[in-house]
Amino acid sequence: MGIFKFIFTLMLATFLTGNLNASDKKVITWKLAQTWGTGMPIFGEAVTNMAERVKKMSNGRLIIKIDSKNKHKAPFGIFDFVKSGRYQMGHSASYYWKGKDMKTMFFTTVPFGMIATEQYAWFYYGGGMELSKEVYGKHGLMSFPGGNTGNQMGGWFKKEMNTVEDFKGLKMRIPGFAGEVLSKLGASVVNIAPGELYTALDRGTIDALEWVGPALDLKMGFHKIAPYYYTGWHEPATELQFLINEKAFNKLPADLQEIVKEAMKSSAYDMLSQSINDNAVSLANIKKDYPNVQIKTFSKDIMTRINAETDTLLNEMSAKDPMAKKIIDHQRAYLKMVRQWTNISDFAYLKSY
Ligand code: CA
Repeated sequence: MGIFKFIFTLMLATFLTGNLNASDKKVITWKLAQTWGTGMPIFGEAVTNMAERVKKMSNGRLIIKIDSKNKHKAPFGIFDFVKSGRYQMGHSASYYWKGKDMKTMFFTTVPFGMIATEQYAWFYYGGGMELSKEVYGKHGLMSFPGGNTGNQMGGWFKKEMNTVEDFKGLKMRIPGFAGEVLSKLGASVVNIAPGELYTALDRGTIDALEWVGPALDLKMGFHKIAPYYYTGWHEPATELQFLINEKAFNKLPADLQEIVKEAMKSSAYDMLSQSINDNAVSLANIKKDYPNVQIKTFSKDIMTRINAETDTLLNEMSAKDPMAKKIIDHQRAYLKMVRQWTNISDFAYLKSY
């Protein structure tokens, strides 16, 4: 190598390294708004884990500051916050945006739909993320799985629910799609903010409610006033959501984009592990700590009827909107395929001894 070429190479290397160092030191700060209050267990932990991982993996180049609903005051304003760019990122649940775009509902969970393992397979390998992109892209947003609760419990009831008739006139807090199903049975369905649930149940504003599962439910104290705890059907795999403003994401250097994606993915899956652990621990203690709680499963009659009502509602949605039809058909076909595997793997194993 000639001396001039050597010097030139040296200068070029210094220039490039210099630039690299400069970008290494440039700190980008993002703001994230979450639906949850400060210190919310499990859901909130998924968010802090993600932000912590981004900070560590980026060597402090990307800092994500979290605002809870205590600060921004709008638990159901996350979609608009991120869309407008006021926040680069959000954490919430896709089915809360049903009123803005009905098709967002299908990316959380569907009654009688996939369980968590099946749904993760659908999101990452079965075409779910591509459909999510089609729905959210129109709003300038990107949506990613944000943590799974696992199968949710069917709710707390003051009286035993034996027949379909028992739902007539029942005042229940059960949001989203499942609420529409139960109103077909004559239930009077309301949505109430989490902070007011206990009082509403205690005062008889509602007769029943569903929240999540033992780990989060027992902290709310519902078992003291409504001891019948039913197993679930309505949220078999509730996936929370990380929302990102697409323009903000595109402005990030490629390595930071990848870091954000990996941090979201690992924190989301971690939340499923934590949910299973915390629910199992709470359930193990339930008999000792709360002997009045009676765990029940709805009768075959009730399940058959609500399953049929769910199907009717999905068919009605398909008829109204071609994109909804595309997602519903896709999920039904995937469920039919993947369930065959679940049946001869996990399910066969569980019922074999
Ligand atoms: Ca729920």
